[in-house]
Amino acid sequence: MTYKMTDKYRKVLTDLLGECWHKPNGIGYCHKCGRSVPDWRIVNRTFTADKDMMKVFRSLKTETWVDWFNFKNFAKIKWEKDFWARKEELREPFEYWWMSDSERFCCLAAQCKMEGVI
Ligand SMILES: [Zn+2]
Repeated sequence: MTYKMTDKYRKVLTDLLGECWHKPNGIGYCHKCGRSVPDWRIVNRTFTADKDMMKVFRSLKTETWVDWFNFKNFAKIKWEKDFWARKEELREPFEYWWMSDSERFCCLAAQCKMEGVI
């Protein structure tokens, strides 16, 4: 299975982080929060970069760790399907598979949130 970031996932993750999904108003500001945002480039997180993955990673640590453990279990189920679908030489241990690809990690977090696991 491939994990491809979509705008829907990006919006879910932006909400998870408690950040604004900026909407440029055409004159250099966000229509929603008023922050200065350029109109000529992507202003919201891509969730394909390591820095975005780390932000999501840290946001899943709650006081009781429940979201964290639920997310980890969710990811492990996805990994098992991926693991057995791959050729033997391409199989990776869970911890590596889970954390080695920023886009995949963020897609998993978005799916986990959308399915109500966290
Ligand atoms: Zn905004």
